[in-house]
Amino acid sequence: MSVFLEVSRFADLGGWVLETQSLSVLGGAYLMAHGVGRPVEDAVTEVELGAGVWKIWALTRDWTAAWGRGMPAGRFEILVDGYSSGPELGTNGEAWDWQYGGEVELEEGKHRISLHDLTGFNGRCQAVYLTLEEGDVPPSEPGELLEYRRKATGYEVVESEELLDLLVVGGGYAGVCTALSAMRSGVKCLLIQDRGVLGGCGSSEIRVWTGGLTNVGKYPKLGNVSALISPIDGTPGQVKSEEIFEDGRKKQLFREGKDLLLNEALIDVELQGRSIASVVTQNLRTGVATRRRARLYSDCSGDGVLARLCGCETMYGREGRDEYGEQLAPSVPDRQVMGHSVLWEPIVRKHPVSFPDIDWGIEFNDENGLKRFNCCWDWETGQYRDQVDEIEWIRDYGLMTVLGNWSWLKNRSPYRDVLSCHDLLWVSAIGGKRESYRVVGEYVLSQKDIEERIKHSDGTAAITWSIDLHYPDPVNESIFGEAFQSCAYHRGIGKPYEIPYRCLVARDVDNLFLGGRIISATHVAFSCIRVMRTLGMLGEVVGMASAVCKECGCLPREVYSDHWDLLRSRMERGISMNQAHGYMPGREESYHFMRPVGSVGNTNENVWIYFGEGGEEPAMHPSLRQAIIELGVTHKNGKKVE
Ligand SMILES: Cc1cc2nc3c(=O)[nH]c(=O)nc-3n(C[C@H](O)[C@H](O)[C@H](O)COP(=O)(O)OP(=O)(O)OC[C@H]3O[C@@H](n4cnc5c(N)ncnc54)[C@H](O)[C@@H]3O)c2cc1C
Repeated sequence: MSVFLEVSRFADLGGWVLETQSLSVLGGAYLMAHGVGRPVEDAVTEVELGAGVWKIWALTRDWTAAWGRGMPAGRFEILVDGYSSGPELGTNGEAWDWQYGGEVELEEGKHRISLHDLTGFNGRCQAVYLTLEEGDVPPSEPGELLEYRRKATGYEVVESEELLDLLVVGGGYAGVCTALSAMRSGVKCLLIQDRGVLGGCGSSEIRVWTGGLTNVGKYPKLGNVSALISPIDGTPGQVKSEEIFEDGRKKQLFREGKDLLLNEALIDVELQGRSIASVVTQNLRTGVATRRRARLYSDCSGDGVLARLCGCETMYGREGRDEYGEQLAPSVPDRQVMGHSVLWEPIVRKHPVSFPDIDWGIEFNDENGLKRFNCCWDWETGQYRDQVDEIEWIRDYGLMTVLGNWSWLKNRSPYRDVLSCHDLLWVSAIGGKRESYRVVGEYVLSQKDIEERIKHSDGTAAITWSIDLHYPDPVNESIFGEAFQSCAYHRGIGKPYEIPYRCLVARDVDNLFLGGRIISATHVAFSCIRVMRTLGMLGEVVGMASAVCKECGCLPREVYSDHWDLLRSRMERGISMNQAHGYMPGREESYHFMRPVGSVGNTNENVWIYFGEGGEEPAMHPSLRQAIIELGVTHKNGKKVE
């Protein structure tokens, strides 16, 4: 007898963070004890077990083994009914594998299983396996493990009956703006987001400032949605507290459970010819997988998750100079990208604060340590790596260098007295990606288009950010072998430049839009498109285009070839995002009752009785008519209801 527990489904995650970024590599999410050196609260669940001696295994790894120094940083143990089952876990080497966690003798009944963090330094666990059999351990090879865990947890795909007009994957700026624009344009839309909050890089989980101007260029009404979801204060340079990112405000614009699903990840796709027939999404907290159908899809996942599952042609890294005639491209193409950043935020307390003197990861000392008392955009890793397949390592390298350098600053550096009251208030657990896979669309925008100001008849929202290319910092790279700092080259673009609609339409799949970081542009052109308000505006355009597709029964590419005037007029009008509740300018009179109408019912009904502009009386329930008579209001025409 055995029980396989996905820890992402534990009833209470305590202080453990649900990590979803490596889903496509690991086949599952994992929990991570991200406490910045302070052990986090237990993650807990209850499970029914028979009587016997249960052997306990954890699917885990030692994330600091990669740097071969000191004690494993992320250690934890498993508690059964509050008692440790045995050895410390998270000490089993670099690769994800099953580590033995001891055995416990139990009586039949419900038992409490807890992940108990010991260090606050990012111990991690995907699953717990309990078995009565000696030598019974699940496989660890990802393919076999996925098959095993699905069988063990009774994975099946539930069919959704609903036919959507548009399904949007990914709830960063691009996805949120796409979905809101579509919904306000009469499109039946569902936004799925694999995190528990909206905003992507612009959420409290990552805390990047929103950049780029809205409401500029040929269509100045584009940007209403993008501006609305941006933080009130967009000035870089102050402490980026959680509240500033207002995750909740973005969510309020949706009806969660109806047009928004959080903690829901796209995991599979079914194609019919050149079109997406359906997708499978999975709730990472419950494990429920659902097949969903839509006429149109928009991939705003930042990694091209949907487009890549469909087999669309992608671009990664830097194109060669000759490919698009770009002066800023390297002579030979390569896979160098702008890196991933684990942002962090210290505060100064009124009293001294300690930080552990850590012995793992790279050793920072007076020769190589960085005199950095706060963080900025330049803490950047993974420039030569695959931002999807290697994201765990990339994030870990960023995290390890933040923590290692801070530990040196606080404990051993010449600045330790100056920094005695400095406290590492917040470090992003997941970090943010600047660049990943881009997807080939109907047109690929390049440096030439922008700098030679090539006018495209399908121009849409305008870029205002400079060409902003990041490189691994050469000094940092020479010291550490692989850089965790970057530097940037900027070149202003002069005036706003409109991005062609065709960059938002996938070339290889007929019913797929491209949103956000993945849009069809070269590395150089992408460097100025990538800021959030701009990507948000492009999302607005996709939302409007999906309404044109619905109205005309056409495909995304036909909006450009056959129905351009319709999209243009929508872009001229913009999306109306009323920020206030106000009575509209008509001159008719009305009565407003909130009560059951007639003799039955005890719930409030929202009843409006409108009289015509000339005072014409509408049909109404006798009980309402009687109430209006009793009010005795004199109408514009001098008459009362009698
Ligand atoms: C450190 C840093 C500094 C930056 N500086 C600036 C700046 O100053 N100003 C600025 O405007 N921009 C800046 N940028 C760039 C900008 O933040 C990004 O380009 C932008 O946020 C990308 O938006 P997006 O919606 O395409 O992607 P994201 O914000 O990454 O959102 C994609 C969302 O999709 C979700 N997702 C992924 N896979 C799935 C799946 N399978 N199922 C469901 N959901 C999924 C992700 O969880 C994520 O929330 C910076 C970026 C970084 C990392």
